[in-house]
Amino acid sequence: MNNAIVLKLILLFLIFFSGKLFAEEQLNKAATLSDIAQPTQSNLLNSDEPLPIDAKLISLLELSENDPISAEKILPNIVDISDNFNVAEKYLMFIIRANLVSENNEAHKAINWLKKALLLEDKIAHVQLIQPQFNQLHLNLAKSYAQISQFKLAYEQKNLYLDKYRDYRKLLREERLIKLNAKYETDLKVKANELLKTEHEYQTLQLAEAAKEAKTQHRNIVILIITAIIFIALLVRQLKIRATLKRISKRDSLTQLFNRRTLFKQGEIHIESALKHQHDLSVILLDIDYFKQVNDHYGHNVGDEVIKAIANLGGETIRPRDILTRLGGEEFAVILPETSHEQAKAIAERFREKVEQYDLSHFGENLKITVSIGVANLAQTQQNFDALLTAADEAMYLAKNAGRNQVCSYLGAVELSV
Ligand code: GH3
Ligand code: MG
Ligand code: MG
Repeated sequence: MNNAIVLKLILLFLIFFSGKLFAEEQLNKAATLSDIAQPTQSNLLNSDEPLPIDAKLISLLELSENDPISAEKILPNIVDISDNFNVAEKYLMFIIRANLVSENNEAHKAINWLKKALLLEDKIAHVQLIQPQFNQLHLNLAKSYAQISQFKLAYEQKNLYLDKYRDYRKLLREERLIKLNAKYETDLKVKANELLKTEHEYQTLQLAEAAKEAKTQHRNIVILIITAIIFIALLVRQLKIRATLKRISKRDSLTQLFNRRTLFKQGEIHIESALKHQHDLSVILLDIDYFKQVNDHYGHNVGDEVIKAIANLGGETIRPRDILTRLGGEEFAVILPETSHEQAKAIAERFREKVEQYDLSHFGENLKITVSIGVANLAQTQQNFDALLTAADEAMYLAKNAGRNQVCSYLGAVELSV
């Protein structure tokens, strides 16, 4: 091997080695920059659309690199359909043809084929030209130029190859970034949707909870109102019962006048008051004459009606401050506060007259009622109510004994009324 050949080989080696180093350095720089750069749409992606490539052509291209003999055999089949090829496919056809001749060390022929391909570059999108199948044209050209010692041209082709390779890598990165961004956006949307769904579920739950709470509250209020109504009703009923019991305990059920118990209670109170204020106090005691006969003759019901009639007449006769009571049976007593003996006698007389004149014919034919009344004044008895009532009772019996239908006074000595 002579010195010229050795020199050529060293130069060839240097061209390839320097190109490789330069390419790696450039790629590293580009990678570093792209890592910190925001994902932006490159003008590489904005260039014209790549043209479709027949799959058979791609297979043949690969075959022409790895197994040129087999590729040579298939080539006519592809040539047959090559009339319909677009410029990109024609470009690849030229590369295939160059590959096949370069295997036979026919560098000039290979360069011719590849130059034909180069003429088509204006009509092919840059984004397609930087694809490895297309870009290998420059590598092949560099190799062929080197074979014919055109090292400068080889070097230029190598640089062209590297420029396009850089663009290709950049494109890949940008595509990957776009995909990542798209995935990120999709993930974000999915997460946002999930969040919305969760929020919606939460709101639905909250609404259901609020409705449930409102229902419970409503029910509780209803229960509370019903309980309060029942409680108030029971309270009112209880109060009514108490009032009724109190009234019953004070009053006589037939005449609704105060009963014997109240008579004694009120009597004591009025005695005390009269003594304290040195007021007069009189009592009258009334008994219906021959009342047994009324019952016997007209019946017990008529007897009751007569008792009630006497009570009403008493009510009409007495003054507001007087206390008319039913002592029991057919006997009545009246407490007359601040009333002198004479005044009491007058009231008793009016009472007696009213009864005598009262028309009872609607209760029974020929029914006539009279009463005997005894009058007593506190000044003539011991100063307690029992003594005063007993005095009035004695006076009443005097009236009975004197022939009934009259008023008698207790004066210590019995006297007949007028
Ligand atoms: P006197 O003139 O002596 O008083 O004769 P009297 O018949 O009225 O006296 P007596 O004591 O013998 O009779 C009283 C009657 O009054 C007896 C009783 O059956 C009746 N009596 C008592 N309480 C009631 C009552 O609430 N209703 C009725 N219908 N009768 C009564
Ligand atoms: Mg009697
Ligand atoms: Mg009687």
